[in-house]
Amino acid sequence: MKSTVSNLALTVSAIAACIGVAATASGQATPATQAQRAAPPTKAEAEAFVARAERELAEFSVIAGRAHWVNSTYITQDTDALAAYFGTIGTQMGVRFAGEAARMATAPGIDADTIRKLNVLRLGLTLPAPTTEGAAAELNRISTDLGSQYGRGRGRLGQEVLTGNEIEARMGTVRDPAQLREMWTSWNDNVGSPMRAPYARMTEIANAGARELGFTDTGAMWRSNYDMTPEQFEALTERLWQEVRPLYEQIHCFARAGLNRRYGDQVQAATGPIRADLLGNLWAQEWGNIYDVVAPPAAGGASAQAYDLTQLLERANYTPERIVRQGEAFFSSLGFAPLPATFWERSMITQPRDREVICHASAWDVDNQDDLRIKMCTRVNGDDFTTVHHELGHNYYQRAYNRQPFLYMNSANDGFHEAIGDTIALSVTPEYLVQIGLLQQNQMPTADQDRQLLLRQALDKIAFLPFGLLMDRYRWGIFSGRIRPGEYQAAWDRLRLQYQGIVPPSPRSEQNFDAGAKYHTAASVSYTRYFLARILQFQFYQAACNISGWRGPLHRCSFYGNREVGRRLTEMLAMGSSRPWPEALQAFTGSREISARPMVAYFQPLLGWLREQNRGRQCGWEGSAGPSPGTARRSGS
Ligand SMILES: [Zn+2]
Repeated sequence: MKSTVSNLALTVSAIAACIGVAATASGQATPATQAQRAAPPTKAEAEAFVARAERELAEFSVIAGRAHWVNSTYITQDTDALAAYFGTIGTQMGVRFAGEAARMATAPGIDADTIRKLNVLRLGLTLPAPTTEGAAAELNRISTDLGSQYGRGRGRLGQEVLTGNEIEARMGTVRDPAQLREMWTSWNDNVGSPMRAPYARMTEIANAGARELGFTDTGAMWRSNYDMTPEQFEALTERLWQEVRPLYEQIHCFARAGLNRRYGDQVQAATGPIRADLLGNLWAQEWGNIYDVVAPPAAGGASAQAYDLTQLLERANYTPERIVRQGEAFFSSLGFAPLPATFWERSMITQPRDREVICHASAWDVDNQDDLRIKMCTRVNGDDFTTVHHELGHNYYQRAYNRQPFLYMNSANDGFHEAIGDTIALSVTPEYLVQIGLLQQNQMPTADQDRQLLLRQALDKIAFLPFGLLMDRYRWGIFSGRIRPGEYQAAWDRLRLQYQGIVPPSPRSEQNFDAGAKYHTAASVSYTRYFLARILQFQFYQAACNISGWRGPLHRCSFYGNREVGRRLTEMLAMGSSRPWPEALQAFTGSREISARPMVAYFQPLLGWLREQNRGRQCGWEGSAGPSPGTARRSGS
């Protein structure tokens, strides 16, 4: 994901997830060990525990947030040490509170609110350690190792050694299939393969920890974070996938034809799966980089663009700060209060010239009240214009829920935070650009140009969906034991084929572990949130457009300036995570169900055109889309 909210200062789960990711520093047994031998807790004890944990975490999050902010905006050995110091403390707190929360949850007669907060605490760790002597230390060592192995990972192109960032960028621009294969293979071999054994060991330990907390395995624990049973949640993701599958199959068919036209049958056949390294992305997760390859010349190719936002911004003499002011103006137009003065004093809006920083865009609320900031190396271009709107979406969410108790200072579920930012980013439409004077009315895109804008969006947003789903399907399978260590690679390849319809460009074996060559596997960050966010953002967007009375095609709607949208949006945001997420969804959209129908509606004008383009082509691939991993597979449509 290009930009993230900074979890750190947000919630307990984030404290655990972010500060040293995977859990569990010291090898001490948690208090649960002693406690398990004692009598069951009382209602009063459970309530007192929640109050204490909440107070300690809230207090800790502020000082830890400051340390991480300084570290991210001024990287030195000293600030690294400070961040690691607070990271370890945060992890220890997470382990301690999760264990205690699991025990307190057995107290008779506790009310729903206390149960909810105990759950937040119990689910706070992504990788829980068991209380066995030495287990926590071993888990922490392995997960830290995996993270740094990923960070140090290198790929190769000829004589060149490429870092992760470099190889990611090259995969988007290189068009020589032999070079693409070399980069893809070297990255997966170098980064993924060495992680295989430690990943299996890490899985064993985390599963033992999950069982101590009352879950059948770590995957079930991850799926328990959604106000429903793990089984219901898995079924929900499956339903959503089935709703968007027809869109994916059309974009797959269309992209494959373009690649076949460009590279010929020897490299990419006209039927069957797509070679994974040809799609402009190291993981084939977003395909916008190959727009110029797959857009047919008849549609104008890349040249007949409607307008170039970067040029518009340059011509209007925008600066990075003015872009952020414009983003703020979007929210002000909906009725949100202006950003605090401290936002402008404390944010990092451009890249400092005199020090190392983390440029990856993020949004922060350091004191959990109103110390909002963004950290971005903003440049004056169209991408960053959109990203600023996205990041500010996080900030306004953070501020909206700042009156909630600390444990509820989070989005309704983990998909919501990213989705809000993206909803706002979707609203950067030609209509909006006209409203803020960047575009003239007579420069509005023609129907053809409009379709290009949609196609470009679809190559990123639709192409992402099966990848967003399979990352966790794969790990759920590993955690549950349905995927055994001896078949890590085969299962990965099988899911990639089944959901994405792609195949590796070079032979793989059980020496490999390609899944580990993706950051979120190495760092143990669950991934379904991104799948949900992709779908939710269109649902939020459609709701806003309906409230604002928009009548045209959905993808052209702008709700800029609509106070009623702002009022309804605030209702949802202000709830934080205090209520089950369907209630939050209902507050804004009127529906309690996540639905992909708005996403389908958004791309409807493109879908008809894609079907026409794909007429006569044999879409789909062998081995596509069975209902769940590891079950019978049938051939594609
Ligand atoms: Zn984000």
